Amino acid sequence: MQLVFYQPINFIRSICICHFFLILACVPIGLNAQNTPAADLVLWPLVEQHLDQRPSDTSFQFILPIVRKHCGNDFDCQLRNYFFIIEQLERKRFNLPAAIFVAEEIKKIAHQHNAKEDEAKAFRYIGNYYNALGEPQKALLSMNKALELYQKIGEKFQITKLKLNKITLNLTHQKVNDVLPEMNALLDQAVAAGDTHSTLYMHLVLIDAAFEAEQYDESAEHIDFVEKIPVSNPLRPNEYSMLILVHRGRALLAEHQNNLEKAAYHYQKALRLCEEEPSLWLEIEMLRFLAKLEWKRGNTNLSKSYLNKAQSKAENLKLDDLLTPIFALKAEIAEAEGDFENALRYTKKKYFYTARFSNKNAGFDLRNYNLQLEKDQLSTENRNSELQLQIKNVQLRSVLIGTFLILLLAAFLFIGWRTQRKQKRHLAVQNDLIQQQSEQLKSLDAAKSRFFANVSHELRTPLTLLVGPIHTLLKEKHLTDKQTRLLKIADQSGKQLEQLIAEILDLRKLELGKMELEKQATELSPFFSHYLVQFESLAERKQIDFSYKINVTNGLAANIDRAKCRQMLYNLLSNAFKFTPTHGRISTEVSLQNGRLQLTVADSGTGIHPDDLPHVFDRFFQTSRPDKPVEGGTGIGLNLCQEYAQLFGGTIEASSREGEGSVFRVQFPVTVVDDLPAFRPAPPLEIEEEASTMQRQPPAKD
Ligand code: ADP
Repeated sequence: MQLVFYQPINFIRSICICHFFLILACVPIGLNAQNTPAADLVLWPLVEQHLDQRPSDTSFQFILPIVRKHCGNDFDCQLRNYFFIIEQLERKRFNLPAAIFVAEEIKKIAHQHNAKEDEAKAFRYIGNYYNALGEPQKALLSMNKALELYQKIGEKFQITKLKLNKITLNLTHQKVNDVLPEMNALLDQAVAAGDTHSTLYMHLVLIDAAFEAEQYDESAEHIDFVEKIPVSNPLRPNEYSMLILVHRGRALLAEHQNNLEKAAYHYQKALRLCEEEPSLWLEIEMLRFLAKLEWKRGNTNLSKSYLNKAQSKAENLKLDDLLTPIFALKAEIAEAEGDFENALRYTKKKYFYTARFSNKNAGFDLRNYNLQLEKDQLSTENRNSELQLQIKNVQLRSVLIGTFLILLLAAFLFIGWRTQRKQKRHLAVQNDLIQQQSEQLKSLDAAKSRFFANVSHELRTPLTLLVGPIHTLLKEKHLTDKQTRLLKIADQSGKQLEQLIAEILDLRKLELGKMELEKQATELSPFFSHYLVQFESLAERKQIDFSYKINVTNGLAANIDRAKCRQMLYNLLSNAFKFTPTHGRISTEVSLQNGRLQLTVADSGTGIHPDDLPHVFDRFFQTSRPDKPVEGGTGIGLNLCQEYAQLFGGTIEASSREGEGSVFRVQFPVTVVDDLPAFRPAPPLEIEEEASTMQRQPPAKD
């Protein structure tokens, strides 16, 4: 049982050999678990339970009463159970101090009962355990005692094993090369004595030892020897162990020769054998070896899956000493992958299991062990701090990059905000300017309107004084024809001027909101026909097909502002006559429907360009199209119609097609009245002359 704590690489291999030893050792005595009566197996859980409750108890007194209570004075039962318990303590819990304590008890009772073989075995166990705990002096004492006893009973195989143990006792301070000749001598002795059991045993041990001593050919020779030994079918437990060691040896050699594929093949074989004959310790080791190999081969994922398998098996059995190298490899892989966080986690775990494993053997001479542990701790801490530093570096870099990006974003946002603010200010300034300009325009417009109104007002009195005498003169009887004609022209021009002044003053009134409605109950049909009839002579003169329809029940009366209605009719018809050429058509319709009076004037004249149509009701609008002849006019007529329609609570709309004609439609609500007032017509419009002169013809000279 060569457990070398100080050389972790050899340690694992030795564990495997140890396992093999145990199987071989147990077979002749018949003390493996399978032979333990079922009733005895209940003791182990009790021991385990106590161990868990008293992790710091190094006396292990509690084990003896448990067994004594179970077996009473039955020596065989006691012996059987003590051996079973120490095997469990050694293999399952790896609690060597407790195992030594139990072995001491076996030694005592075996001596009392003169059971030399059992006494020798107890000494052998104690020797191995002390050796494993780094106490070679104590180990040697026990081994010598065991050797003495085995020699007495002539147990050749055990003698060979003990001799080998003594040879390898100082391996911590020696190299394998130094003891290899002695080991070979032991093999030669076994061969010479015809001891096949010891021969096979030595060959198996030498596979590893020669490999360790870098005698690879020699190691291969030992493998060849073992391989030639026939095995039974199905395999016996010790044959399983033998073949596992053979395949493992082949795998190590192949790995050494860098033949990784072959190494993988043999590790796989060994692993399968481990799985068939449950030998968890070796199985976990094979998994780890395979993991390392696959990692070397670049199969990181496969390697990780082997490691995870090994980890879960080792964790189930609480095999802390096996978990340590598993996590060491995991940390190595994680670090190589740049996954520093996991590397740190695994290193910490490795340290944790190392510490827990060491606690199990507390209370013995652990001076050297502690020194090593401290060294390990220091290097682990160094590693930890290195990894932490790397993590911090990575974090710092991320933080710096993050900060830089945030600052960049902030800068962009700030620039955007500044630009937007600038634009807003600029817009506000422009808005102010536009506001000011529109205010100025409004006040200019108001001033202009005021001026027009004032001038018109001033013109009205002299105009009345002009028109009055003309009227009086026209009534004279002795006037010549020429005088009458000239006076009539002057009279009509005066009236036209009066009309224009009246319109300008009306607009001003509307603007100031001073325009009032003067509604009168009016019989509609005679009212409109009176004015429509007056356009007939003009139509005749201009050879225009003029027609009108009044769709209002005879005798129906409504409240209307007569002057404004007359003005609207006059303005719309004047435009129609103005823009309709000879042989054209003009039709007018007056109707009353659902309390709304509708006035429609349609002509087949020049029509209105689509660009002009939306503007015809704008005040002072005149077309500026180059293809339209300059017609003169003021742009007041339609605007006034619209103002009146709105004043009545109604609307005016125009539709037109250029070259085909236009339609104007006014409609507004009226209140129908019952009593019919007599309609006293206003003086005739004198359309003929008025329209012809109003149609923007230059004033007649002469
Ligand atoms: P004015 O006739 O004094 O110029 P209006 O306000 O009556 O002013 O008319 C504005 C403009 O609308 C006219 O200059 C003309 O271009 C257009 N317009 C009005 N009525 C007609 C129509 N029946 N046919 C074609 N164009 C018309």
